[in-house]
Amino acid sequence: MPRDRVVVVGAGVAGLVSAFALAARGLEVSVVERGATPGGKMRQIGIGAAQIDSGPTVFTMRWVFDELFDAAGRNFADHVRLRPLDILARHAWDENARLDLFADEARSAEAIGDFAGAAEAARYRSFCRDTKRIYDILEKPFLRAPQPSMRGLIGAGGFRGLMQLPQIKPFSSMWSALSQYFHDPRLRQLFGRYATYCGSSPFEAPATLMLVAHVEREGVWSIEGGMHGLARALADGAKSFGATIRYGQEVSEVLTACGRTTGVRLSSGERIEADAVIVNADVAAVAGGLFGISARRAAAVIPPRARSLSAMTWSVVAKASGFPLSRHNVFFSSDYAAEFDDIFRHDRLPREPTVYVCAQDRNSDAAVPAGEERFLILVNAPANGDRHSYDAAEVEQCAQRTFGVLERRGLRIPRLQDATQVATPADFNQLFPATGGALYGRSSHGWTASFQRPGARTRVPGLYLAGGSTHPGPGVPMAALSGRSAAACLMEDLGSISQSPKTAMPGGMSMR
Ligand SMILES: Cc1cc2nc3c(=O)[nH]c(=O)nc-3n(C[C@H](O)[C@H](O)[C@H](O)COP(=O)(O)OP(=O)(O)OC[C@H]3O[C@@H](n4cnc5c(N)ncnc54)[C@H](O)[C@@H]3O)c2cc1C
Repeated sequence: MPRDRVVVVGAGVAGLVSAFALAARGLEVSVVERGATPGGKMRQIGIGAAQIDSGPTVFTMRWVFDELFDAAGRNFADHVRLRPLDILARHAWDENARLDLFADEARSAEAIGDFAGAAEAARYRSFCRDTKRIYDILEKPFLRAPQPSMRGLIGAGGFRGLMQLPQIKPFSSMWSALSQYFHDPRLRQLFGRYATYCGSSPFEAPATLMLVAHVEREGVWSIEGGMHGLARALADGAKSFGATIRYGQEVSEVLTACGRTTGVRLSSGERIEADAVIVNADVAAVAGGLFGISARRAAAVIPPRARSLSAMTWSVVAKASGFPLSRHNVFFSSDYAAEFDDIFRHDRLPREPTVYVCAQDRNSDAAVPAGEERFLILVNAPANGDRHSYDAAEVEQCAQRTFGVLERRGLRIPRLQDATQVATPADFNQLFPATGGALYGRSSHGWTASFQRPGARTRVPGLYLAGGSTHPGPGVPMAALSGRSAAACLMEDLGSISQSPKTAMPGGMSMR
């Protein structure tokens, strides 16, 4: 029996998950990746001998990967070494105002009580209850579904009708909902920051996204070898099931005949025939015609004003001083509304950014590295990298503001030229074409936005989409879910084609 052939375009986490799942089921899978390594955004940058995770750093929802490996008869923990973190993140507003959130809800409540009073701690408890409820309501009919609609959710197949709709809070903004839970503005800022995990502003995202707080409470892990180690494990797993991965090769067109996908053409001119193609590039690239005219029909254009956040990042090797860093640290700006106004309304870098610092050689406070350590430092930025060039003066001004925020909160990280690498929205636009540097697809602003991300199936038979710009959304585990969903839809569709005795093929009828 000839095996069904699938081409996966892109070795981001979703593409790798699709390849892993399909190869494990016996399909003939070829992954084509324009970069030199697997992982896409989950990339590492080398500075001297150090490899620095310069994309995602917070790993959550490990069950997504446990299930993927289980389904293939393997144990995730045998392939990726995970360590749970007690402290989810350390937050600082000035040299004295600091607050840790813990994986243990009771410890967080106690810390919040010490920081902002017993009433605020009690409100935190009800926040935890409500965010868990939002997550529980949405996990099956939204996160795990291939492409849900609000109507479907309310209807028989989704959650229990209109009764549950108010509980997921789709119609109020995250900021206004948080204002009801927390009277201390610093706590609103802390929990509002979860909107940025979906590339969005807490002032415009629906309160539903508060569920991210629950996801983090369920566990954050560090990965031995860094997040990029996860990409390598997925790539190795896919290859062990027979998939091939070709790096440094770009797909320039998805080929179709008689309206059905027949393979891809590489920019070298080579053609790879396939029964189905999964595109893991951003949907903006598909809609922008980077995969040819036929594929363009598979996704709707994302107008620049609907793009999610980009970022300015500094990958740094240095010896830090003055602040007791945990692994994940957030240094807040003094005016959160002004920060998102700068980005989303004025299309400019924030004048005073909130700064995230990942101290990659730390897991707990107990082990502080003796010498230099590896950092990823990130501030949010507008996704305008396709129309704004970010010259050296602007990058330096942003660095001074960013490192100035850290110093005013007590942290000094020296910036030596040969030990620092910067990425701007323009760099991200080059890495992920047609996005303007948007790192999370479409922003989740307004209650309809989550339903506007395309699902795995497209209007072009045999062409599927997977990745953080598709349903259910951005983030490593969410993109992984989309990859799983693309693989499942493709298997289902190929199954129905294989079962039909005669299938229209280019050049006549074929028996399969
Ligand atoms: C700085 C940063 C920090 C982040 N922090 C977190 C975090 O802490 N936790 C978290 O969960 N998520 C985080 N994210 C988001 C997360 O990284 C992404 O949502 C996720 O990795 C996206 O995966 P993806 O499957 O969409 O593929 P992508 O990573 O977007 O990869 C797509 C791949 O397709 C390839 N490709 C594109 N076009 C072509 C072509 N024509 N031919 C061949 N190959 C092509 C690209 O080279 C790329 O490798 C962060 C992202 C960034 C950038």
